[in-house]
Amino acid sequence: MSTVFVEGTPISETRAPDVPLEQRWERRRFTARLVNPANRRRLSIIVVGTGLAGASAAATLAELGYQVRSFCYQDSPRRAHSIAAQGGINAAKNYRGDGDSVHRLFYDTVKGGDFRARESNVHRLAELSVRIIDQAVAQGVPFAREYGGLLDTRSFGGAQVSRTFYARGQTGQQLLLGAYQAMARQIHLGRIATHPRTEMLDLVVVDGRARGVVVRNLVTGEISTHVADAVVLATGGYGNAFHLSTNAKGCNATAIWRAHRRGALFANPCFTQIHPTCIPVSGGHQSKLTLMSESLRNDGRVWVPVAAGDTRPPSQIPEAERDYFLERRYPAFGNLVPRDIASRAVKSVCDAGRGVGPGGLGVYLDFADALERLGRDGVESRYGNLFAMYERITGDDPYRVPMRIYPAVHYTMGGLWVDYDLHSTIPGLFVIGEANFSDHGANRLGASALMQGLADGYFVLPTTIGDYLADGPFPAVGDVSGAQAEVEDRIARLLAVDGDRSAEDFHRELGAVLWEHCGMSRNETGLRKALELIPALRVEFWSRLRVPGSGAALNQSLEKAGRVADFLELAELMCLDALHRTESCGGHFREESQTADGEARRDDAAFSYVAAWEFTGVGRPPVLHREALSFDHVTPSQRSYS
Ligand SMILES: Cc1cc2nc3c(=O)[nH]c(=O)nc-3n(C[C@H](O)[C@H](O)[C@H](O)COP(=O)(O)OP(=O)(O)OC[C@H]3O[C@@H](n4cnc5c(N)ncnc54)[C@H](O)[C@@H]3O)c2cc1C
Repeated sequence: MSTVFVEGTPISETRAPDVPLEQRWERRRFTARLVNPANRRRLSIIVVGTGLAGASAAATLAELGYQVRSFCYQDSPRRAHSIAAQGGINAAKNYRGDGDSVHRLFYDTVKGGDFRARESNVHRLAELSVRIIDQAVAQGVPFAREYGGLLDTRSFGGAQVSRTFYARGQTGQQLLLGAYQAMARQIHLGRIATHPRTEMLDLVVVDGRARGVVVRNLVTGEISTHVADAVVLATGGYGNAFHLSTNAKGCNATAIWRAHRRGALFANPCFTQIHPTCIPVSGGHQSKLTLMSESLRNDGRVWVPVAAGDTRPPSQIPEAERDYFLERRYPAFGNLVPRDIASRAVKSVCDAGRGVGPGGLGVYLDFADALERLGRDGVESRYGNLFAMYERITGDDPYRVPMRIYPAVHYTMGGLWVDYDLHSTIPGLFVIGEANFSDHGANRLGASALMQGLADGYFVLPTTIGDYLADGPFPAVGDVSGAQAEVEDRIARLLAVDGDRSAEDFHRELGAVLWEHCGMSRNETGLRKALELIPALRVEFWSRLRVPGSGAALNQSLEKAGRVADFLELAELMCLDALHRTESCGGHFREESQTADGEARRDDAAFSYVAAWEFTGVGRPPVLHREALSFDHVTPSQRSYS
C-alpha cells in the first residue's frame, strides 16, 4: 500500500470548541468575530452553486449586507439539482410526541453514518434542524399538513420516529423556491449579482488565500475571472463519476476537483451512497437513473420470491412463497432500515438468484397492503407524483402491479475537507452542502442532505465566514491572467485531441469500472484492477477524445469533456481511498471485512478517522492526512436494526 500513497501529518485542529457537546455551537457563535454592518458592505463573497446550500447561503449573506456574486451552470438558479429532492427534510421538532429530540436525531445520524462522522458537527446539525423548518415555513414553503393544520411528518430510514417534513414528493423544489425567493429579494436590492449558465473552471489562489474563480460563459464561451474576499463552493456531489446515478445529468466534480488541485484536501472520497429504491437499469443506452423516494418505504413492502428462478408474475406468487426479507431480517426497522443496509440486502437476494425482472436485478416494492389500508386516494395524496413518474418511465401502473427497484448511486458523503467553520484547507475557501464531507460519515440517512445544506447555508456559514472576513477587506488582487490562461489552455487541449471517441463514451466506460470495483461492494483485487484501468483510460481519453465544434459558443460536448476529464482523476482517488480502507463501513462494504452473517464489519481500532487526501499531481501518490474521530457521547457498536 505504501507505494500508492504517502503518509502525511495528522489533522489535529478542527476548531470545534472544547466545551460540552451541547454548548459547542453556541460557544463558537460567541467566539466568532463579528463584522460590523458598514464593513460588510465593503466585503465581497463569491458563491458557486445555487442549490439549497448555495441559494440559502447567498440570500443570507446578502441579507447581512455582504456583496455576493452567485454562479451556476443552469439557466436559472432555481433549476439546481436540489430541485429533484423528493422525500423530505428531517427536523427534531417532535410534533408527533413520539420520543424525538435533538439528542435522538444526533444519535440516529452518528449511528446511521456508521460512526465515521464528527460528533460536534452532527450535534450542531440536529440543533439547527428545528430552525430550518421555522425558516422555511416563514418563507411560505407549503409543507404537507395534517387535518388539524399542524405540519405533517413521515418516517425515513434509520429512525423509529416520524421526523421527516415533506411537501408531497417535491420537497426539494418547494424548499428551493423558498431559498430562491429570498435570493430574488437580494438580487432586486442589488446585493446579489447572478451569473447563470456560467461554469467555474478553476479557483484563483493568491498569497495562499482563495480570492476568486475563473469561469466560462456557457452560451458565449467567454472566459473571465472574478475576484472577491472569500469564495464559497456549494457545488453539490460527485455521484455522476459513476456515469449512471440518480443525480441530475449536469452534476459534476469540476469545482471541488479544481479546488483540490489548488490545495484543498479531499475527504473520504470513496464514501458513496447507494440508494436501494431506484428504477432498475434497462439497457446500455441509458444515460441516467431515476430514484423512487425512500418515503415509499413507509408504506411499500419489499419482497422477492422465496424460490430462486421463480419467474411467475407477482400476482401469481402466493403470500407463503414471498420473502419480505427486510422485515424478516430487521424486524425492529423493517422496510425502513438505512439505505446501506437495505441496498446490501437487495443485492444479496439478487446475487442468490431471487431477483425479479430482466436479468434478475430487481426486487418488488409492493403497495397492495397500503392500497387496502389507505385506499387509492390515500396513497395518491402521499405519493401521487412518484407513482405517475414510475408509470411514465416503466409503463407499469404501480397501483396495479408492484414497482420493481434496484440500488443505484445516489449521494456522495465524501467531499472537500472542512473544519467546524466549514472552512477548507485553503484560507478563504468555504465549502457547504453536498460538496463538503462534513456531517454524514460513511452513510447519510434519508432526508438529512436537505437539512445539512440548509443548516450550512442559512445558519452556519453566515456566522463562521464573518470570523474570517473580520480580517478583510484583503489587499487588491494583482494580475490573475495566469489562472485564466491555464483554463484557456486546457480548453484548447480538449478541442485539439480531435480523436474518435466522445466524452460520453469515456464516461460510460469509467462508470462501469467504478460500479464494478468501487460500487456497492469492493475487494482488494478489484480495486487494484481499477487503479490500473482508470489511468489507462485517462491516457486514452487525452489521445482519442473527440469534441466537435469550438470553444467560442455553446458547446455541450466541450462542457462534458471537461467534466469527464476531472472525473477520470477523481475516480482514481476514490479507488485508492477505498483500497486503503480495508474495513467495511456504511455505504462502503469491503468484502474481506464482513461478519459471519454477511453484515459489514467495521474496524474501529484501525479506521476511526477521516481520510483527507492532498493532491500532488496527476498519477502521483497523494498524501494522506488523518483526522482522528472520537466518540464521547455515542459509543461505537455493531449497528443493529433487528
Ligand atoms: C433524485 C434525488 C432525490 C433526493 N431526495 C432527497 C430528499 O428527499 N431529502 C434529502 O435530504 N436529500 C435528498 N437528495 C439529496 C439532495 O437532493 C442533495 O444532496 C442536495 O440537494 C444537494 O444540494 P447542494 O445545494 O449541496 O447542491 P446541488 O443542489 O447539487 O446544487 C449544486 C449547484 O452548484 C452549481 N455548480 C456545480 N458545479 C458548478 C461549477 N463548476 N460552476 C458553476 N456552478 C456549479 C450547480 O449549477 C448548482 O446550482 C436527493 C437526491 C437525489 C439525486
